[in-house]
Amino acid sequence: MILFISDLHLSFDKPQITRHFIHFLQTNARQASSVYILGDLFDAWVGDDDFTGTSAKVRRELKQLTDTGVNVYLQRGNRDFLISERFARGTGVVLLDDYTVIELEGQRTLLTHGDLLCSDDIAYQAFRVKSRSQAWQQNVLSKPLWLRLLAARWYRLRSFWYKFKKSSDIMDVNPMTVKHIMAQYDCSQLIHGHTHRAGKHEFMLNGVKATRIVLSEWSNHGGSVLSFGETSE
Ligand code: MN
Repeated sequence: MILFISDLHLSFDKPQITRHFIHFLQTNARQASSVYILGDLFDAWVGDDDFTGTSAKVRRELKQLTDTGVNVYLQRGNRDFLISERFARGTGVVLLDDYTVIELEGQRTLLTHGDLLCSDDIAYQAFRVKSRSQAWQQNVLSKPLWLRLLAARWYRLRSFWYKFKKSSDIMDVNPMTVKHIMAQYDCSQLIHGHTHRAGKHEFMLNGVKATRIVLSEWSNHGGSVLSFGETSE
């Protein structure tokens, strides 16, 4: 059984979601061979040196899961893109590239967080390029941890208002970009999160039936898990 989740947006002020996630790691996830987390596991990530509250708890639980032999793969989202090797070593999680191709029930399947597909959001894409540079990241990570934690709270607040100001169209994927990327990676199936518009879209891609699956975000009411294959029991 292979499981896919994304957009949990774990944070100190939403402890209920963290509880859902830990429950998932201790139950459902243990029956899986692989668990794929497709980004925005955390609502903010200020650096792998943050071992406060939620971060410490989640690391411990992930480590316990990977110790049982379950493969856990993680793509970074637009909120937790600073997750790095130290986090991976400590948890046993394998970090994936922003575009990763896997074989899923015999079908080449492209995995991505989804923010790269929202190509109409020019301002965001420009910030994305800048924030993935070594210079930008070194500058941020050289600030003291307390300052980064404070800044994260500020950015989260700002992002909340930012979303309301934008037209809803540019917050979704661009269909041309989707087709272009799927063709480039030679995949007829795509799984992503990010947009919080869960669904399954079918369309034609170069004469072949193609599928785009959008994962849903987690909330206080619980988590949504996409599952392929049989349980091992
Ligand atoms: Mn996202």
